Amino acid sequence: MKAALFRSPGDIAIVDKRIPSLGDNQVLLKIDYASICGTDKAIFDGNIPCKPVVLGHEFSGEVVKVGSKVKNIEVGSYCNVQPNIACGICDICRKGNPNLCEYKVSHGIHIDGGFAEYCVVNQDLLFPIYGIPHIESPLIEPVACCLHGLKRCNPSIGEDALVIGGGFIGLVFLQLMKLRGLNVHLIEPNKKKRSLAKSLGAECVFESISEVCDDFDIVVEAVGKIETVRNAFRIVGRGGTMLLFGVCPQSETLSFSPYEVWKKELRIVSSRSNGHNHFDAIRILSKLNLKDMITHVIELKDIKRGFKLMDDNNHIKIVIHVSEAE
Ligand SMILES: [Zn+2]
Ligand SMILES: [Zn+2]
Repeated sequence: MKAALFRSPGDIAIVDKRIPSLGDNQVLLKIDYASICGTDKAIFDGNIPCKPVVLGHEFSGEVVKVGSKVKNIEVGSYCNVQPNIACGICDICRKGNPNLCEYKVSHGIHIDGGFAEYCVVNQDLLFPIYGIPHIESPLIEPVACCLHGLKRCNPSIGEDALVIGGGFIGLVFLQLMKLRGLNVHLIEPNKKKRSLAKSLGAECVFESISEVCDDFDIVVEAVGKIETVRNAFRIVGRGGTMLLFGVCPQSETLSFSPYEVWKKELRIVSSRSNGHNHFDAIRILSKLNLKDMITHVIELKDIKRGFKLMDDNNHIKIVIHVSEAE
C-alpha cells in the first residue's frame, strides 16, 4: 500500500508499505479521507518529537476486513476513527480521563495513522457514520476536541465569549458556542477568515487583539502563542473563564499576577485531546458549516504540498483524499 511516512522533521515521503496483518479484535480500514491537523504540522516541523510513523489522526474510511472477534462492525461500513488508545487501567483512566492517560498511544503519532491507503484499527475505536458527507467525516475528531474544550468552560446561555484565532479550531468554537446560546466575538488577522466568521454568526470580528477591551465571560485562546495568552489575561472579565486550547511551544513561559487572578476570580482551564466527545461530535456535525472551512483537498501523493500550504495563514482545513478515484 502507499503510505505517507514521516521520517524526520521536514521529511515526509510516499513509500510502499506492507498492509498490516489483523488481530482478532481489529478491522482493516481502507482510508478514504484524512485531514491535516496542527499537531501533524508541529511534528513535521520538528516541534513535537516523533519517531518515523505514518502521520494522520483524523481519518475515515470503509471497513474491508474484520478480525474473528469483531462484533457489530461489518465489512462495507463507513467509519471514523477515534485515534487514541488509553491503557484503561491506570488511575487517570479509572477516574474517567483517558485523554490524559500517560500510557496512551495514538494513531498517527505513536503508531501508524491515516495518511495511508489502509490502517489496522481496534474495533472499539471505530464510529460508524451515516448521512455525513465523507469528505467532512475526518473533521469529527477535531470537532470532538473543541466540544471537550467547550465543556471545560462550563458555558451558560447568553454569556459573552471571545475566540482568539479564526482558524479551523476557532471557527468550530464559534459555531459550537453559537449553538450553546453564547454571543461570540472573534479576533483574526486574515480578512477572508474574518468574513467567514461574520457569515457564521460572530457578533463582532476584530483584526487585532489591541482593538479589544471588553470584559468577556469566556475567552478561548485558539492560536497557541504566548503573546495571545498574555493578552487573554487582559480581556477576560471578572468571574470569567479562560480556555487555553492552542498549544504553546513547550519551552515558552509566561509570568502572571496571582493578585489579578484573585481579584477577577478567574478560572483558567485547558483542554487536551477529545475526551469522551466523539459520539457527541458525530451527533452535532450536521449543524456545523464545515464545507466552507475545507479550503484545500489534496491527493495523498501530493501531501507534501499540503504541509507547505500550512506555512501561511491562507488555509483553514486541508483534507487529504486517500482512496483511488473510482
Ligand atoms: Zn488533531
Ligand atoms: Zn491509562
